[in-house]
Amino acid sequence: MAQDCIFCKIVAGEIPSKQVYRDDLVTAFHDINPVAPVHVLIVPNEHILSVAAVKPEHEPLLGHMFTVARQIAEELGVAESGFRLVVNTGSDGGQDVYHLHMHLLGGKRLGRLG
Ligand code: 5GP
Ligand code: ZN
Repeated sequence: MAQDCIFCKIVAGEIPSKQVYRDDLVTAFHDINPVAPVHVLIVPNEHILSVAAVKPEHEPLLGHMFTVARQIAEELGVAESGFRLVVNTGSDGGQDVYHLHMHLLGGKRLGRLG
């Protein structure tokens, strides 16, 4: 666990969150400031700074994040209507929290990116 990392604290249960999924590798919870009717964050339980810090040994974890995203999308009723997975990376990528996370957004028609 990284000191002063908000998502490490959520994973450890030190900061409350509206959790939707948890297993040995990942934790998923509702974003505190949702930008869509469905806005869930899927985070590794392990502290990884960002996509810029991923290594080949993280590949099973990274693949698992997609499987969990699909499962949560089904449970929250957006698998058929569609959803978007976003991983902001670094300053230009708009990353605010430096603990790798995947946004799962859905429940409305999302605008084009860029
Ligand atoms: P980023 O901009 O780094 O891709 O996304 C960070 C996300 O984390 C933002 O959407 C923000 O609303 C969310 N967030 C920040 N702090 C908290 C928190 O304490 N709890 C929850 N549930 N979400 C948070
Ligand atoms: Zn962390």
